[in-house]
This record gives sequence, C-alpha cells and structure tokens, in this order.
Amino acid sequence: MLASYAVRVADSRGRQHDEPPHPYRDAFQRDRDRVIHSRAFRRLEDKTQVFTRRYSDHFRNRLTHTIEVAQISRTIAAQLGLNEDLVEALALVHDIGHPPFGHAGEKALDAAMRAQGTYFDHNLHALRIVSSFEQRYAAFPGMNLTFEVREGIIKHSRDYSAAEYPELTEYLLDERPPLEAQLIDLADEIAYNTADLDDGLEARILKLGEIRERVVIFGRFYREAEEKYPKAPDKLKFNEGLKRMLNRLVGDLIENTRARIAKAGVKTLDDVRRNPERLARFSDEVERERAEAKQFLYDRLYFSERLLPEKERAEEVVSQLFAFWVANPDKLPRSYQEDAKREPLPRVICDYIAGMTDTYILAQHKKFCAARKSPESPRLP
Ligand code: MG
Repeated sequence: MLASYAVRVADSRGRQHDEPPHPYRDAFQRDRDRVIHSRAFRRLEDKTQVFTRRYSDHFRNRLTHTIEVAQISRTIAAQLGLNEDLVEALALVHDIGHPPFGHAGEKALDAAMRAQGTYFDHNLHALRIVSSFEQRYAAFPGMNLTFEVREGIIKHSRDYSAAEYPELTEYLLDERPPLEAQLIDLADEIAYNTADLDDGLEARILKLGEIRERVVIFGRFYREAEEKYPKAPDKLKFNEGLKRMLNRLVGDLIENTRARIAKAGVKTLDDVRRNPERLARFSDEVERERAEAKQFLYDRLYFSERLLPEKERAEEVVSQLFAFWVANPDKLPRSYQEDAKREPLPRVICDYIAGMTDTYILAQHKKFCAARKSPESPRLP
C-alpha cells in the first residue's frame, strides 16, 4: 500500500531511451535488477569501506555495507508506505561511484584532480557510470535507468546548485528529492555508524569501555543488555546493545519522519518536492546521539593511528598512478586513449582509477610505479 506522497512507478518520468515495458517487472524493479547485474556493482566486493581485507574476511566491504543499507532502507520505506523497489534500487546503487580504498582513495583522487583544476565527486561519477560507462546493452550506452533513480543518485546525500552544476539542471535541483531518496543518506548513516563500531571493536582499535562511555546511546542499551543477560559474554552483550541502538535509530527515523510529513501537511509527491526542507530526519534528541556516535568514530577510528599507514599507502598508490598516466597517456588501455581524444586527459584517468577495485589498482601500481619504490605495506598488528 503506497502512501499518497510515495513515488508511483506509473508516474515515472521515464528513461533516456525509450524501451518496451517488461511483461512482469516494473521500471523500478528493472532498474534495481540492472544495478545488481552491473560490473560496477560487482566491483564493490573488492572496494574498501573502512577496513581493507587484510584485517578480516568478515568485516564490511562496500558490497556488504551496501546490502545493509538496502535492508535498513527497505524496512523504513515499508513503514512509511514508500516505493520499496525504488528505495532498493537507490540503496544498491548509492556507493557505486566510490573509488578504491574508501575515503583515503577518494581524497587522493580529488586532490589529484584539483591539481589539474577540476575535482572528483562520487555522486557525479556514479551518474557517469550508469549513464555511459556500463557497456551491457546493445540498444543504448549505460544502464538507461529511470529519471527517479538517476535523480536519487545525484540528490540523495546533498544538494547541488544549478548555478554551480549546470549539467545537472534536468534533475530539478531547486526541489527536494522524493522521500525514497531522502531516506537513503540516513539509512547509510545508520548502517555505517553501527557497523563501524562493530568492526572497530573486533579490530581491537576501539575498546568496549570507551564506546560505552562516549557513545551514550550505545551505553544505555548495553546496560539494558547487561541487566537482561548478566552471564552472557561481553561480545554478545555488545551485539545486543548495538542491535538495540540500530533499532532505536531506525524507529526514530520512521516516527519522526512520519510526524514531520503530517505536520507539514504533505499529501502528494509534489508536496514533498516543494517542501522547504527535507522531511526525512531524526528527532533532535536522536540526531544528537547519532552525531555523537559519528564524532566518536572520527576521533577514535577513522583517524586512528592504526589505520594511518594503510591510508597513507592508499593515497600514495592513487596519486602516483594518476601522475604516471598524466605523464604517460600512451600507457593507458586503448579505449581510454580513445576517450582522451574527446575528453580532458585528467578526467579520463580519474574515471579509470575510480572504477578500479583495491586489488586491481595495487596490481596497476606494481606494474607501472614499481620503480618509484614506496615503503613496504604496513604489517598487521
Ligand atoms: Mg554508503
């Protein structure tokens, strides 16, 4: 049962290239399936989220993180009466534009591009992937996704101004995105704030005591778990606490968004789009708790000494390879050399690097930059 303000597939603004309808899958279901069958989606398996694979084979990578975001988003969408197929497509595609090596890779790629007078933006890159880089269908380039999925790719996590990004004007930049897209960014936050506490503890970078103390929302639920399961091992009490924290974030987002929709008198998708601000939001109290958890992760995990050597190595690999191809464009694969006749060389190199997995970029670095000897990879603790 769709809410009156949900996106209806029958009202979709359609695809860039017309296609006959499918007999039993609607347009958003097909978009979701196209994402799953894309090369860029499969590569998420070997892209770092926070921890490289050397730490553990059961920590999150970008693919398993993406699946967690899809699970959380669908739960929220179902409760709010939103279009679950659109939400699932948006969740599955939300990180497809990320380069190898997580945030460090993105930072290095952006820095390399800025030195060339331009920049790297993962949402814009994701749009380029689905609009042209994926070569899968004979009838059109890219994945020919519906307007609503492309709009969500661009607008789920931030606003882009038409003045600054004239190439994006077709995406209704002065309107809010549908709720289906709005909730993706918050589901993403819920997924990684909880998952990174989990993996950070298992990596023994974070300590249970400091999480309990500094992440108040977790501490409260940990105490609850302790009272209920006093004899359980700490790790299971931790899991119980974390599960309750995730539940609290999801439940609050559902309730608060529902209340904001009612308060704003929002009845239609147009109302959602024209509302002065985004409607999907945590309550003030939970927003404070979320921000506190995130700050803790920044202080103690993302910028921790233990992750530093690996991040430095990632930045070095990206920046050296970029510089190598700027100086030696004839060493790019032939198809990229062809692209460079039509597009600026830095953009072509950036597109190539951004599409790589961690394993592939390391192999490329070994092949082309071995002469510029870099320090040995850091050993694991
Ligand atoms: Mg994400």
